[in-house]
Amino acid sequence: MIITDTHTHLYSEAFEEDRHEVIQRAMDKGVNRFFIPAIDSTYTKSMLQLEQEFPQHMFLMTGLHPTSVKENYKSELAHVEDMLAKRSFYAIGEIGIDLYWDKSTLEIQKKAFRYQIQLAKKYKLPIVIHCREAFEEIFEVLESEKSDDLFGIFHCFTGTIEDAKRTISYNMKLGIGGVVTFKNGKIDQFLNQIDLKHIVLETDSPYLAPKPYRGKRNESAYIVKVLEKLSELYGLPEEKIADITTQNSKDIFKV
Ligand SMILES: [Zn+2]
Repeated sequence: MIITDTHTHLYSEAFEEDRHEVIQRAMDKGVNRFFIPAIDSTYTKSMLQLEQEFPQHMFLMTGLHPTSVKENYKSELAHVEDMLAKRSFYAIGEIGIDLYWDKSTLEIQKKAFRYQIQLAKKYKLPIVIHCREAFEEIFEVLESEKSDDLFGIFHCFTGTIEDAKRTISYNMKLGIGGVVTFKNGKIDQFLNQIDLKHIVLETDSPYLAPKPYRGKRNESAYIVKVLEKLSELYGLPEEKIADITTQNSKDIFKV
């Protein structure tokens, strides 16, 4: 069984002490494809190092995270563009809009999001969307940018079934992680009405640990709890769900 974690911040300071053990624990569970979303230029070096240590397993993205869209966002976007010109990446992410942490930057968040969507189209790469308290704002940008060459993943999907259908209509798969195991996570109520071909698995580690680790540091090995939950919701063996969602990740990332 091959499990793909489509969203894990393995370069995070949270794994400073035991990164290799964390990766080994994941591999022991069958997780051996790790897609690594970017945040901003301050993490570039540690991401490249991670890739150098595990070249067969780590697949890097580049991008500017919405909570890192600040006064210096133009130079940060220039860094993303620079990286794209220099070497290959598997996606542009994570990008999007986050109104939970800071509403005052909405306008520049939208600009950065749109700009990076255009970069993704230029480089024929998928996007990985981060959305927090900003469904309408995200949909507004996607609506105006939608096209056959815009596709990707809506990471940590937490919306309603209507939001899910709308997301899928923009060629986006739903990134499903720990939230599906939460008591009030809500998406478990309707997820089995969404065809598995639209679903990929993720942890977003070190954040959003699934039950029974909720509130603790998350790690890629815990993705088996997400797999267990989906197996229960869809009434299918875990192996089958791992296969389908890994195939979906291959379709998106082309690797
Ligand atoms: Zn993330």
